This record gives sequence, C-alpha cells and structure tokens, in this order.
Amino acid sequence: MSDQLHVLNPATEEAVATVPATGAAEVDAAVVRAARAQTRWAALAPGDRARLLRRFAVVVDEHLEELARLEVREAGHTLGNARWEAGNVRDLLDYAAGGVERLTGRQIPVAGGLDITVLEPLGVVGVIAPWNFPMPIAAWGTAPALAAGNAVLLKPAETTPLTALRLAELALEAGLPEGLFQVLPGHGPVAGNALVEHPGVAKIVFTGSTAVGKQVLVKGSALLKRVTLELGGKSPNIVFADADLEAAAQAAPMSFLDNAGQDCCARTRILVQRSVYDRFLDLLAPAVEAVRVGDPSDESTDMGPLISRTQLDRVRSYVDPDAPGIRGKAPEGPGYWFPPTVLTGVDPHARVAVEEVFGPVAVVLPFTDEEEAVRLANATDYGLSGSIWTRDVGRALRVSQRVRAGNLSVNSHSSVRYWTPFGGFKQSGLGRELGPDALTAFTETKNVFISTEGPAQ
Ligand code: NAD
Repeated sequence: MSDQLHVLNPATEEAVATVPATGAAEVDAAVVRAARAQTRWAALAPGDRARLLRRFAVVVDEHLEELARLEVREAGHTLGNARWEAGNVRDLLDYAAGGVERLTGRQIPVAGGLDITVLEPLGVVGVIAPWNFPMPIAAWGTAPALAAGNAVLLKPAETTPLTALRLAELALEAGLPEGLFQVLPGHGPVAGNALVEHPGVAKIVFTGSTAVGKQVLVKGSALLKRVTLELGGKSPNIVFADADLEAAAQAAPMSFLDNAGQDCCARTRILVQRSVYDRFLDLLAPAVEAVRVGDPSDESTDMGPLISRTQLDRVRSYVDPDAPGIRGKAPEGPGYWFPPTVLTGVDPHARVAVEEVFGPVAVVLPFTDEEEAVRLANATDYGLSGSIWTRDVGRALRVSQRVRAGNLSVNSHSSVRYWTPFGGFKQSGLGRELGPDALTAFTETKNVFISTEGPAQ
C-alpha cells in the first residue's frame, strides 16, 4: 500500500495533490495528543467551549467559497452542492455549540438522598468518513463530539482528504486547542483500522460501505467500543396513482442523480402504481433528459462525474448498455462520467434492483396496490430513506408507518437536516446522528447517589 495518497480531479483525471498517508504508529501518537487535549477541553467552562466552536463556525463561513472550490476539485461535486456542504459544516458547528450549556443530566427521586445523572464525555472519538460527502459527514460526527467535550481524530477517505485537512487548519485558526481535532489522512485498512483497534479511542463513527461497517462493529466489539454506523441504502420512491404526477416526475430525477447518485439516501427504486405507470414514464423521460451533466465548477451544472475509475467500473458492472429505459447525456473523454440512467422492465430481484449501485442509476418497478408497494419497498436489506407521493393523507401516514426505514418524506425527497435525527433501519446502520440528541450520543451517563443520612457510624 502506497505511503502517499494521490488526489485526482474526477472531472479531468488531473492530479490535484499528493498527501502522505498516516501509518499506525502515527495514529498512536495522535491518540496521545488527543487524550491530553481532551482533558483540558472538557475542563473548560461550557460557555468557553461553546464560544470557541462558534468561532470555528465563523472561520468556516469566512472560507466557505475556498472550501467549496476545493470540494469541487477533489470530489467533482457541483459548485452549488459544494457551497451547501461547506455551509452545512458551519451550521453543524453552530448548532452543536448551542448544545454545550444545555447538556444537562437529571435528578431522580430516591429515598434517603439525592440522585443525579451526569453526562460525561467519552474521551477520544474516531470519525471515519467516506468520499461521497467529505465535509458534511466529517462534521456530523465531529461537531457534536467536540461540543460534548471529546477530542476527535478524523480519518477522511483516501480520495478526498483535502477539505478535511483544511478544516483542521481552520479549527486552529479559530483557537481550538492543538491536538483536539486532528485529521489523519490514510488508507482504511491502516489508519482507519488503527483507530478501530486502538484502546484509547472510545467511539467510532463510521460512514461507508456495509461490508466495512460490519468489520468495524466486529473489531470494535473486542473492546466494547461504542460504534455508530451510517451505511448504504436502496431507497424507494413510491408514486401512487392519486399523486400529483407532474410534481412527482419532476422531482424524481434529482432524488437519485444528485451527487451523481453517490448518496446513501438516493431514491433509486421508483415504485409506480400500475394504472399510471405509462403516464409517469412519459413525464419522467424529459425530466431525466433535461438534467445537465458536465463541468462541476460551472454554476449551471446539475450533475458531475463519479468519484473514481473504481466507482465508474462498479457502476458500469450493474448496467447492460442495451437494457431498456431512459438515458441522459454525459461528457465523453477524460473524467469518470456516467449518464443518468433509468432502467425499466427490471426483475425486482435483479442485482441492480436490490443492491446499492452508488451511481446515477434507478429502476422503475410497477405495483398494483398499497400492499404490494409496501412489500416491494421493504424488499431489500437496507432501510435508510424513502419517499411517498400521494394526495391521500391517511395513505401517506399508513405507508410511512409500514416502510422500514429511518428517514421518510411525503411529497418531497428531503432526508437530511442537521436538526432532525438521521440514521438507518436494518443493514443501513446503527444509531442516529444529527438532531436534538446528537451530543448525547457522545457521552456516558453516570448516576450519582448522594446520601442525606450522614456518614455511617
Ligand atoms: P469504504 O467503506 O471502503 O470506505 C469508507 C471509509 O472507510 C473510508 O474512509 C475508508 O478509508 C475507510 N475504511 C476502509 N476500510 C477500512 C477498514 N478496514 N477499517 C477502517 N476503515 C476503513 O467504502 P468505498 O470502498 O469507498 O465505497 C464502496 C461502496 O460503499 C460504495 O460504492 C457505496 O455503495 C458504499 N458507500 C456508502 C456510503 C454512505 O454514505 N453510506 C459512503 C461511501 C460508500
């Protein structure tokens, strides 16, 4: 395994940077520094910790355009998305900062004394981030962990270390103590694994593939390590005959094409009631063809390239070029391009219908009634997100109660807000991130009983 990470621009295949890969011994040293910084950080007055995190948010905001442009170059994200992503880091830091003074325990009635609970920081937290949303996902773990009094060691993905490294510099500029938030670019099986196996790391927040997530859980369990997993998805977009079909067809393309489909919440299984199936496809085709695929730094682009040659090959392996369906256009030449693709006439058990492709590919499957829609929606190992399009409020509620997924939206494709909880059912993950309880997930609850009876004689 190379001791260098070569960062390429996915839109052009040109070299962007070379970054040294962190080895296991360097991870050990980072844990020592982090533990030292954490002790001092946790001892600061809550208001001071909150103020420093807010200052970090301000510094991120001042560098928003720079961070966004860096994300475009290393990850191929469209400029609009990348700006949103940098803004999301700022908002997460602000939101988490607001929780520092509100991280309260409870007082529980007992006989003979007073019983209180205290929420203590875990210590050093390892955040292992993927390449699909390098900045937001890094911040989902980092911001609440810091706010709850922990230190953070962030291991970005091999292909996208640059925005993470820049965020660590900005943290120091904002006045966060040295060692408190360190970025360890490196290979998953080396630097990532070293965090998972390190006894000095109390919790791992992992986002990535289900296969590696399961390994993290098994290895972490040897030390009873706390583990949060955000893994894959194969989310349904259920369109009932009574829905506003124009709106549903207009919204469907970007629900699986955003970020070139490299989104764990992508609605890649479009389930359409049989009575409106043909009409829906007629409306969907022009909406898919209208998606502008190209240079991600152009403000008018809707979809950029895939992250890497590996990912392009992986996506290609799922799609027969002669399969029936709808196809958009993508640039030719250098870059990891794949056109928007909607496959029809697919067997519901086919690989492309049940596995996460993580590219701009969806399947359309017909259903007859509500019962069949729910059965199809639940017929994968995943359970992350999903959408329900209907004008019938009762049906919207019934179906949302029966679909086994952590994040559902009705007549919309929204999944992620930093102030609402996010996470998966089934093999999509373990635990929740974001939302009002985000800080609590980075604490241990300690119960203290104080006797009022006086010392025993
Ligand atoms: P991955 O799971 O290998 O990588 C995710 C992160 O885990 C990276 O930082 C990587 O370095 C690290 N990692 C890899 N092996 C590790 C190990 N043994 N110990 C600790 N950390 C390790 O994912 P990938 O190979 O980049 O992508 C493959 C597929 O995973 C994608 O096609 C997609 O289906 C899925 N994926 C899902 C998400 C998500 O948001 N849920 C994100 C990225 C990838």
